[in-house]
Amino acid sequence: VAKREGRSTIKVFEPVMLLQRQLRSQIASELRDAIRTDQLSLHYQPVVDLRDGRVLGLEALVRWNHPTRGFIMPDEFIPLAEEIGAVIELDRWVMASAIRQYSLWRAEMELDVDFQLRLNLSAVELQQLDLVDYVRGLLRRFDIPPVALVLEITETALVTGGEVETYSLLSLKQLGVCIEIDDFGTGYSSISYLRKLPVSMVKVDRSLLSELSTGSIQFGFIAAILQLIRAAGLEAVFEGIETLEQAEKLKEMGCVGGQGYYFSKPLTVEDTSALLRSSAKLPLTS
Ligand code: C2E
Ligand code: MG
Ligand code: MG
Ligand code: MG
Repeated sequence: VAKREGRSTIKVFEPVMLLQRQLRSQIASELRDAIRTDQLSLHYQPVVDLRDGRVLGLEALVRWNHPTRGFIMPDEFIPLAEEIGAVIELDRWVMASAIRQYSLWRAEMELDVDFQLRLNLSAVELQQLDLVDYVRGLLRRFDIPPVALVLEITETALVTGGEVETYSLLSLKQLGVCIEIDDFGTGYSSISYLRKLPVSMVKVDRSLLSELSTGSIQFGFIAAILQLIRAAGLEAVFEGIETLEQAEKLKEMGCVGGQGYYFSKPLTVEDTSALLRSSAKLPLTS
C-alpha cells in the first residue's frame, strides 16, 4: 500500500514540479532581459537621525516592474538572480543607477557632504576582483565623495567570506567607503567577528523589533545589543521601526540611526525628490 501511495504521490507532484521548473527558467531568462531593458527601478527609503528626524541618507531598494506579472519584490528575484549568476550584473545596474540619481540630487539640493547613499551588495559581489575599481570609477565619474557611500552586506556573506572577500572589504575601506553589516542578528552573530571585520556600521535586522512587539524579547535585550555594537566601536542603525513607541525607546537608549515604515516606506524617485526638497526631516511626532 505504502509503495502504491508513494507512486501516486510522485505522479501528483511531477507535473507541478515540471511547471515550477519551467516557470523558474522562464522567469530567469526574463530577468536577464529585465536588467537590460529598463524593467528594473529603484525606490529609496530614508534613514533618519532619531534625535531630530533629520534624514541622514537613503537606501536604494530594487524593484522589478514585470510587463505581465506586475511588480516583483527583491526577496523574490534576488535569490533567483544569485542562482543564475545574474546578480553581479543586477547589483552593478543598481550601483550605477543609484549613484547617477544621487549625483543629480546633490546638484539640485545641496545635501550634506556625508548625506549617505546606501546600496545593498550581494555576497558574490565581494568575490569579484574588479569590484573596487568599479566602485571607484563610478564615484569619480559622478564626483561623489567615498564617505557618502555605504555598502550594506549581509552578516552571513561577511562571516563566510575568504581571502578575496577580505581583500575587497579592505580595499573599499581604504577607498573611504563605509561597509555596514546588514540584517544583523539573523545569521551568525558571533561577538568576536564584530571587532575583526573592516566594517563601520551595523544594521540590526527588523525581526528584532518585531519580536519586541510580540513580547518574545524585551527592550533590555535591544539595549544590550546596542551596547554591544557600540563597544565594538561601530555605529548602529535599527531597521523596521514601525511605531512611535519603538522610535522613542530607541532614542532614549541613545540610538541615532533608524529606518522603518514609521518614518517612511521606500519612496519613488519623485517622492524622494519632494522629501529632500522640503525640510528633509521626518520627526518622531508629526
Ligand atoms: P534589506 O536591505 O534588509 O532592506 C530592508 C527591507 O525591509 C526592504 O524590503 C524594506 O522595504 C523593508 N522595510 C523597511 N522598513 C520596514 C518596516 O518598518 N517594516 C517592514 N515590515 N519592512 C520594512 P525590500 O525592498 O523588499 O528588500 C528586501 C531585501 O532585498 C533587502 O533587505 C535586500 O537584502 C534585498 N535587496 C534590495 N535591493 C537590492 C539590491 O539592489 N541588490 C541586492 N543584492 N539586494 C537587494
Ligand atoms: Mg539593506
Ligand atoms: Mg536589513
Ligand atoms: Mg533583508
